[in-house]
Amino acid sequence: MNYSDNTYATLFKRQRENQFHIGNTTYKERIKKLKALKLALEKTYKQEIRDALYADFKKPTLETDLTEIYPVIDEINFVSQHLKSWLKRQKVDTPTALLGSSSWIKNEPKGVCLIISPWNFPVNLTFGPLVSAIAAGNTVILKPSEMTPHTSKVMSTIISDIFNDNEVALVEGEVEVSQELLKLPFNHIFFTGSPQVGKIVMKAASEHLTSVTLELGGKSPVIIDDTSNLDKAVKKIIFGKFLNAGQTCIAPDYVFVNESIVSEFKSAFKKHLTAFYSENPSASDSLGRIVNQKHFNRLKGYLEDAISKNASIELGGISEEKDNYMEPTLIFNAPEDSAVMQNEIFGPILPIKTYRKTDEVVGYINSKEKPLALYIFSKNKTNINYIINNTRAGSTCINHNLLQFLNHNLPFGGSNNSGIGKSHGYFGFLEFTNQRSVLKQQTIGAVDLLMPPYTNFKQKLVD
Ligand code: NAD
Repeated sequence: MNYSDNTYATLFKRQRENQFHIGNTTYKERIKKLKALKLALEKTYKQEIRDALYADFKKPTLETDLTEIYPVIDEINFVSQHLKSWLKRQKVDTPTALLGSSSWIKNEPKGVCLIISPWNFPVNLTFGPLVSAIAAGNTVILKPSEMTPHTSKVMSTIISDIFNDNEVALVEGEVEVSQELLKLPFNHIFFTGSPQVGKIVMKAASEHLTSVTLELGGKSPVIIDDTSNLDKAVKKIIFGKFLNAGQTCIAPDYVFVNESIVSEFKSAFKKHLTAFYSENPSASDSLGRIVNQKHFNRLKGYLEDAISKNASIELGGISEEKDNYMEPTLIFNAPEDSAVMQNEIFGPILPIKTYRKTDEVVGYINSKEKPLALYIFSKNKTNINYIINNTRAGSTCINHNLLQFLNHNLPFGGSNNSGIGKSHGYFGFLEFTNQRSVLKQQTIGAVDLLMPPYTNFKQKLVD
């Protein structure tokens, strides 16, 4: 929907007026709404979503089904299964000093929430948090990215089909739209995007002391040691890296390979890359495109910069501007001061670093911002535990990559520069929930006996 600046405030006000009506809905009523969203994704709008994502950046249909539609449906199924228990009053013990009272936690909605989402998995990262927000009983304004306009349009139609806009509204538009929305006193902001914009969001939220969830990005390292099943490791890394043409927040950003296995690593990489995308990846219908020319130029600049600083291209390197196409590219010896090692790559370029001792890798990772994900390919338990215990990261997947995103029982999110707060399942529900403490006094309690005047007798009782 296209709203104008002055109607954002009106929309917000109408949602605020409606918040108690929505907040007092039963778990059954909330599940009914989630099921309506599920039907839209699974049946009514499935093909339109696929077409829109193809029009936006040639996302292969199977990738759309697996990474955009399926995770939201799965989230809806999971939430529907557990919502009744999540909304139940949670009784807690009462200490002796408060004898005569009972205490419980009421999971109440935060109120009016804003969800700002990125372009790389627009459906998943807009509707995924929306599922948690609806489950918790909030009203919501959604602001998807301007970079995937076809997908935003379909999502807008879905939302206005299912919801009145005083409950859930989707606002399309450029960055300025986010900036206007961020001026409003939301009760919670759930932002997914870059750390740079995350800081802008947090600053704006601080004006109203609005709580935030920041799902951010950064450079996620992979470590392959000399005990790993190298062939399988390489195949999985190629899948994780080049899915969505590398434009995935938890995609491997760079790989540390033990120097004793580098030549086997190179041949396994060539073998699996060709098996996935053929000798001519530009003709493969399994490989998406860079989202727009701005990002294409950014990535091309990274490659040129690395080459000018004596990095070597081991595989790939070809790009076609007219189609925003970039070949899956493997580079060695990119120096530390090159753009590709300084920035989150977010595209199909994979720098390889070699190492001898695990400590070198641990030291390197700890000298950088905490990653959103850290991947370890190894059969050596001691080595795996050493790496986990001596680094920090939002998540770790051992002997695979990306899969941690799909387990609803795991919190998903970063730490510091890679994010604040968690999403998915119960963790996502809690982000949109205020855990309200309630204490009810049934009879006269110990504290009532100790009220002023503080007589000697009362002092003796305490002593
Ligand atoms: P981005 O930060 O540029 O934009 C995200 C959203 O913020 C968009 O809706 C955009 O309109 C809005 N926005 C941009 N500039 C803004 C500003 N100045 N003020 C207010 N709003 C603004 O991110 P992107 O390019 O869409 O996505 C890529 C980034 O997102 C990467 O860093 C990636 O790692 C991260 N990401 C993180 C996750 C996660 O779950 N942690 C998932 C996907 C992407």
